[in-house]
Amino acid sequence: MIRFLLHTVVLLIVLAAYGQSPLFTAQDTLRGSITPERAWWDLNYYDLDIEVNPEEKYISGSNTIRYKVLSENQVIQIDLQSPLTITKINQDGYDLVYNSIGNAHWVTLLKPQKIGEYNELVVSYSGHPKEADNAPWDGGFSWSTDQNGQPFIATSCQGLGASVWWPNKDHMYDEVDSMAISITVPKNLMNVSNGRLRNVEEGQNSNTYHWFVANPINNYGVNVNIGDYVYFGETYEGENGSLSMDYYVLRDNLDLAEKQFKQAGLMMEAFEHWFGPYPFYEDGFKLVEVPYLGMEHQSSVTYGNKYQNGYLGKDLSGSGWGLKFDFIIIHESGHEWFANNITNKDIADMWIHESFTAYSENLYLDYYFGPEASAEYVIGTRSRIRNDRPIIGVYGVNYEGSGDMYYKGSNMLHTLRQLLEDDEKWRQILRGLNKEFYHQTVTTNQIENYLSEQTNIDLTAFFNQYLRTTKIPVLEFSLKGNKMRYRYTNIVKDFDMPVRIKVNEQEQWLFPRAEWKTENLDAKDTTQVLVDENFYILVKNLSQ
Ligand SMILES: [Zn+2]
Repeated sequence: MIRFLLHTVVLLIVLAAYGQSPLFTAQDTLRGSITPERAWWDLNYYDLDIEVNPEEKYISGSNTIRYKVLSENQVIQIDLQSPLTITKINQDGYDLVYNSIGNAHWVTLLKPQKIGEYNELVVSYSGHPKEADNAPWDGGFSWSTDQNGQPFIATSCQGLGASVWWPNKDHMYDEVDSMAISITVPKNLMNVSNGRLRNVEEGQNSNTYHWFVANPINNYGVNVNIGDYVYFGETYEGENGSLSMDYYVLRDNLDLAEKQFKQAGLMMEAFEHWFGPYPFYEDGFKLVEVPYLGMEHQSSVTYGNKYQNGYLGKDLSGSGWGLKFDFIIIHESGHEWFANNITNKDIADMWIHESFTAYSENLYLDYYFGPEASAEYVIGTRSRIRNDRPIIGVYGVNYEGSGDMYYKGSNMLHTLRQLLEDDEKWRQILRGLNKEFYHQTVTTNQIENYLSEQTNIDLTAFFNQYLRTTKIPVLEFSLKGNKMRYRYTNIVKDFDMPVRIKVNEQEQWLFPRAEWKTENLDAKDTTQVLVDENFYILVKNLSQ
């Protein structure tokens, strides 16, 4: 998701209150680290089965958690956030006792947990889940109504965690391999979740929608969307064959959606070109209308951009190119490759989701309008960069980095593309990432190493500079006759990124370092030196 509005303001105020160094609690560690009570078991399967009562804003049901024992332990950590309460935890017919430490629940298992065995735990729960204050940034349940007064309900929980509405192992590092999602709703409404609809079970006053996700899925990707939906769809012939693309929108918006969602097919074509096959053919692709702006829910991307281009009608780049596409269709779907296919192990590395996905906006433009449009767009988004704190957050405490992970991140990747001087190779690297880390959770180091190896450039200092500091390299230079003196300032150790310049319209490369260097230019009486704007650096001409 794209988040640079209210969310960021609130975060900055919190940081200011704590004198720039955020304080972390024991709860943050329980939520954000791989605790011993998590480390010993590997998630295999979830069977989430709940009833949603819109009138009471109440949910109840259970999640069956199947796991593989990796090492012996008798205590298992399950996460569920208040005000929801656990009513029962059962294994093999025995009710178990548990200790709750805030939102973490340590369950004592009775039967010996033998290495290699698959065991199941059924966690029953109910209550009034937290309502979303500002979905999707401050998520939970959004209990809304449509223009006809019908309930229009959706969940969102990135950052906050899926345990805000269902019990699970709430850490990014361990994705479940597959999942059943069964949601019971009043008869006049429909539920749309992730994956494919297997069947609808008709009850007297309610219907149960049985969805199934055949691929690994991250917790925050799981979602419930309930409304008076109508359906339309298409089949896309993609790199891995026929892909069903299904659309669920409010009854009154069908005409608008049929027009606007033509961009979904355009998106799929552009992103398969740049990133490789859509990663979830078995589960299909969906766009689902929701009462908030949108979110990258895996195989059921949610949409609330009001059927207009731009970000709620605005061009985030100021270049004009941002109005050539529907921001939510393009950005949130881009996450299918970066966030859902390749997922960060720790939310501190969330740039892996957002930098590449913000960058996918340019690549979409590049595919349909060419590299100049793409460059103008990404350069235009630099006005949104704040350099307030590093892009990488704090590990082990569920704390993401700066919102600069979006547009500073995309500009960093755009800069890297320049260094390669080979767009086809760059495309193969982006596709290679999605193949190498297919359906995996990863760390920043894995991505850095892969990019260094594939580009054949040691990018250690490059990533240290852009991901781990707020410093933007400054290229200082002065001209005297045909001599150009130049150096970098404001850089980390060993930062020596080459940069392209134009001397009297002639392109050449400079290789600046922290020390002054001198270059003899092929110069005339009046020499004009222009530093290529595609590189995200600052330039200081000392001769002026
Ligand atoms: Zn995003």
